[in-house]
Amino acid sequence: MPKPINKTIGNCVCSTIGCGVLSSVRKMKGDSGRLYLVCPECGTIRPTGQRFQSYILDNAELFGPEGEPEPVPVDHGPVPDPEKTAAPMIPTPGPVKVAGFWVDGNSEFDNFIKG
Ligand SMILES: [Zn+2]
Repeated sequence: MPKPINKTIGNCVCSTIGCGVLSSVRKMKGDSGRLYLVCPECGTIRPTGQRFQSYILDNAELFGPEGEPEPVPVDHGPVPDPEKTAAPMIPTPGPVKVAGFWVDGNSEFDNFIKG
């Protein structure tokens, strides 16, 4: 059986400095689902780092295997500590007493209305 070729899902300018040739973006089969480039000048460029994935996502025109952009599983790296990133607890406001001449009854305006 010939090795199945990963589908080309988009185009991206080659990441090699000084190359800049339009390359094919392909997506690896399997769990990683990583994107890589196949440059006509440089060949297959397949770094595994997140920076390269970001480069492709930032620079590629992805059309997906069926002509639609594909969601790409992104390795977010270290998960931020929820203790530090959680929004501060905001106390739930109780019934708010609305201040104003309609409620107060003793404002200048009410006195004016009452005569
Ligand atoms: Zn290249």
